[in-house]
Amino acid sequence: MQLDIVTIFPEMFPPVLSASILKRAQDAERLHVRVHDLRDYTHDKRRTVDDRPYGGGPGMVMKPEPMFEAVEAIRARYCGGHGAKRSACETVLMSPQGERCSTPVAQQLAGAEHLIILCGHYEGIDERVKALVTRSVSIGDYVLTGGELPALVLIDAVARYVPGVIGHEDATAEESFANGLLEYPHYTRPPVFRGMEVPEVLRSGNHEEVAEWRKHQAVARTAATRPDLMKPSPATASSNGHSQKAPQHK
Ligand code: SAM
Repeated sequence: MQLDIVTIFPEMFPPVLSASILKRAQDAERLHVRVHDLRDYTHDKRRTVDDRPYGGGPGMVMKPEPMFEAVEAIRARYCGGHGAKRSACETVLMSPQGERCSTPVAQQLAGAEHLIILCGHYEGIDERVKALVTRSVSIGDYVLTGGELPALVLIDAVARYVPGVIGHEDATAEESFANGLLEYPHYTRPPVFRGMEVPEVLRSGNHEEVAEWRKHQAVARTAATRPDLMKPSPATASSNGHSQKAPQHK
């Protein structure tokens, strides 16, 4: 997957991208990341990327021209020009007003060959930049100072679904949210630590009992801390207003 990030703080990316699984993914050529300084697409001496908001109010707004020039240059160079297919090249704006990042969003974006990610700052970006983007994505219902940390969160979430990035692909299949449940608890050695024991069943060697215990634990902890995940989604509610039974997790 090709990743092009447009930001006014390019220095925020290398520390995160040059460690752990994201680094290995680049070494293995599963991910190719380029970070672009938005100021390189300005034409004045001060490399201005922001201006005062029309209508007044606090803060500054990111100007549309540098964003358009940056995205158009990236598309022309790496994305087969303006006519590149939407599914092959997604342009994502990081925004607290976007669709909430989730497992399905990460999986869908992992299917793109090329992601261009735009990081906002100040009060936000001139609304006309939306004409460039195929998706706006939020990492949660809170406002951060800029789009760089959200972009890194999104990249990490997406990279896990790019084939070959995580060693064993099964790892994502049982994880939290994959089946509408949180994952079961994990333990490793020692069997007793400060008086806390690893459940007997996990040491039994009985794979069926282990699987049954894990399923039960996943349901119990989801019910305790995230019951919202177990509620029927609007899609499973019938048109007459009566909700249908939620999928049964035994
Ligand atoms: N004034 C905007 C609003 O109320 O919706 C918030 C602007 S925020 C201070 C500046 C930038 O940070 C945004 O343009 C976006 O790129 C990024 N950002 C902040 N919170 C975010 C979130 N929860 N998810 C994704 N991006 C976020």
